[in-house]
Amino acid sequence: MSKKFFILTLGCQMNKNDSERIAGLLSSLGFTAVDKPEAGDVLILNTCSVRQAAEDRVCGLVLNWQELRRTNPDLIIAVTGCLPGRDKDGRLRRKIPGVDLWFGIDELPRLPVWLKELNSAPAEKDYLAIAPLRQSPAQAFVTIQTGCNNFCTYCVVPSARGRERNRPVKDILAETRAFAVGGGLEITLLGQTVNHYLAPDPESFCKNNPFKERDDFSALLWELNQIAGIRRIHFTAPDPQYINDAQIEALKLSKQMNYIHLPAQSGDNEILRKMNRKYTREQYVEAIKKIRAARPDIAIGADLIVGFCGETAEQFKNTLDLYQECDLDISYNAMYSERSGTPAARAFKDDVPRAIKKQRWDELQELMEKQALRKNQKYVGQTVEVLVENCEAGLCSGNSREMKFTQFLGTPDLVDQIINVKIFEAKEWVLKGENPKFQ
Ligand code: SF4
Repeated sequence: MSKKFFILTLGCQMNKNDSERIAGLLSSLGFTAVDKPEAGDVLILNTCSVRQAAEDRVCGLVLNWQELRRTNPDLIIAVTGCLPGRDKDGRLRRKIPGVDLWFGIDELPRLPVWLKELNSAPAEKDYLAIAPLRQSPAQAFVTIQTGCNNFCTYCVVPSARGRERNRPVKDILAETRAFAVGGGLEITLLGQTVNHYLAPDPESFCKNNPFKERDDFSALLWELNQIAGIRRIHFTAPDPQYINDAQIEALKLSKQMNYIHLPAQSGDNEILRKMNRKYTREQYVEAIKKIRAARPDIAIGADLIVGFCGETAEQFKNTLDLYQECDLDISYNAMYSERSGTPAARAFKDDVPRAIKKQRWDELQELMEKQALRKNQKYVGQTVEVLVENCEAGLCSGNSREMKFTQFLGTPDLVDQIINVKIFEAKEWVLKGENPKFQ
């Protein structure tokens, strides 16, 4: 009987794609996926360490999983992702006993060897060469880069995932073509600074690629745009410092989503400097202006952090102003929390009281909701294109090209299809519409 594995993923899309890669590797070794830890022989916790809460959750989960050893003494518990990745001195591992395998995601190719040693399974591959096991036939995350060279002072990624490594163009295209042949419709390119992509094999770009002498990331977008079957392409997360004219032009390619997520983090230059973000508020605003000039109806999202070390009321106000000035559609807002081992933890005091952080977060959230409601009104009466992800009790949902969550009445056969939906009502976080074919 084949061995079973269970994976629990904490954190971002990059982690979710890593989990698909882990699932792909284990499936290629003959393991079968199960959906609850009680049924697994190998339990894998793919961690995030962006927030302290995630670390605390890892301790609790591992403790619970250890209970399962009573009925399954051969159980293997593995922890991977950001937490082991940045645990260079083993201090964190010592705080979480009962873990059999503790490894950074770049070490994933060694998993078969370790499982064999622990009596569970064969051959090492390059991490980026391991094929992911897709959760959806229509949508896929495609990792084009891992690691980061930027060293933002609040971030653990450079120490957890190491320096930036870019995947060959030919591998990215092969993976996307195979996905398209299997019915894939939408890809999301993943990288920590995705628009800093530098092709290790620029000779793989087509001779007639109009971007190939100008910018590798734009050239990659152009190549992907040529793949038959793929209908929607987007990427996360670009870094404002690398946005250039070629990339803005590439946003006009026919399969690009009508959405860009451009992390800002703060609207105040002094805070950006302390964060070691390598752009100014003015450069961010300029990038947004150019993007809107190229695609006037594009929806734009950001990431923002409130309460970074020493942030004054005035500096926070600059973030609120930036949100309004850029007329953003959405932002993923975080209250700053100190991460041990980061430059910010060493250099600055986390001195904004929690109550103030919470107050600022609420204020930003309120502005965002007000603005989202206003901005979403423009879709009423319009037809948007939705990739249907779900259909329960006759209510279908999915995201439009603008990444607006959209609901309409329909049937389960529409799942994993792209359909048109005419919007009759817009709320803060949902567009409600009808599919003309369903009436
Ligand atoms: S760009 Fe900054 S925030 Fe993003 S992964 Fe790199 S160091 Fe972290």
